[in-house]
Amino acid sequence: MTELLIKGGTVFTAEGPRNADVRVNDGVITEVEPGLTAAGRAVDASGMYVLPGALDVHVHSRDPGFPEKEDFGTLTAAAAAGGVTVVLDMPNTVPAVDSAGVLESKAALARSKARVDFGLWGLIRSTTTAEQLEAMADAGAVGFKAYLAYSFSLSRKQVLYSPNGDDPDLESPADYGTLARLAPALAHLGLPVAIHAEDPTVLAAFRRPVLTYDDLLASRPPEAEAVAVSAAAAVARDSGFHLHIAHLSSALGLQAAEDAVSLGTPMTLETCPQFLHLTAEDFGRVGAAMKMLPPIRTRADRDALLDGLKRGVISVLGTDHAPHTDAEKSAAFGDAPSGSPGVQTLYLSSLQLARDAGDVWLAPGWVSTAPARLAGLQESKGSIAPGFDADIVIVDPRSKTRVSSEGMRSRQRHGALEGLEFDFAIKHVYLRGESVARGAGKPRGRMVRPAPALR
Ligand SMILES: [Zn+2]
Repeated sequence: MTELLIKGGTVFTAEGPRNADVRVNDGVITEVEPGLTAAGRAVDASGMYVLPGALDVHVHSRDPGFPEKEDFGTLTAAAAAGGVTVVLDMPNTVPAVDSAGVLESKAALARSKARVDFGLWGLIRSTTTAEQLEAMADAGAVGFKAYLAYSFSLSRKQVLYSPNGDDPDLESPADYGTLARLAPALAHLGLPVAIHAEDPTVLAAFRRPVLTYDDLLASRPPEAEAVAVSAAAAVARDSGFHLHIAHLSSALGLQAAEDAVSLGTPMTLETCPQFLHLTAEDFGRVGAAMKMLPPIRTRADRDALLDGLKRGVISVLGTDHAPHTDAEKSAAFGDAPSGSPGVQTLYLSSLQLARDAGDVWLAPGWVSTAPARLAGLQESKGSIAPGFDADIVIVDPRSKTRVSSEGMRSRQRHGALEGLEFDFAIKHVYLRGESVARGAGKPRGRMVRPAPALR
């Protein structure tokens, strides 16, 4: 039996922070008590925080499909370095994950490279059937994702960031009708349904050439988010499926979501660290590294999202980690693709937000406990308590970390948060009791599946 004892730290527990030692046997936490004595390996965590590993519910591995941008190896090396011990990968890889067969082959590929645990989202297309949803759930999908404004290329088997127009190769995007048609099956399966919440008709009305950051903001108005949230919530409310709003970006979208929650809609809200650390005013300093969809908006939007997070209406922080190559991102603004890496800075950026909000201990809830619940993993991940996987991050609150391209493990090294400094440093990261932060050794990541009883 291999043992690890983490001694003398301040441990995040369900009852709040607590001075305690943490004993791990064979990858599982067995005791959280003061004054434990070591029989095997011991790590001194005096003055440090002992936190549950983060689950990033929103990453794009690009694998299979775009190995030049990222793959499961580089994604999970970045995750491990940043204290993220589970990544939930979105289904818009190529071929898109729209069936159990594709999900199973993607799982096999990920298993061969993953340095942290991973889960897979399945795709809802406008033609998806209830049987396909059920088969993906049986194959282990953690939930489903609908890209409301994006069409599907039948020949390339790819979600495309473009409207369908008249091209016979492009299948119409999943829409509110798709969700309504599939609602009974979605409610029965009990898995979350994440949406990319931008309404295509609002986007169409504001379409324009995007040459500047102002063009980007004008082409993606917050009304598109608010309308999509309200309409999807109206469908979910009646049928009872669990709606998850990905990357909430605007005050208007948040208001629409709060209205829906107050009516009893079963839904969770996610926003991203980049929407909370940056505003449109940062564009002059950051440049195209902060080009993403939906966009980073105004100070008022940022303040509203921060307030929603502090009040607990927004429960989940995910990164929408979406790397491209540095060369692609250096193109003229209009041509640069949308997206930024983020998984490696999730934990530290969230700790900073929580400290600035007045309670550093809010952060593990946003990045670990609430995400574990969303993924149906609340009995094995997201807490430091006996019986849970020993996915543990030791953070030093007396050291600082400056986000710089040199330390980045993703293929895209220049991200939106580059240059920011956080008042914390990650010292150790354990995946089921084994150290993974430095990326050495064999890939040990396993696929996570929602516990059936929790679905
Ligand atoms: Zn995304």
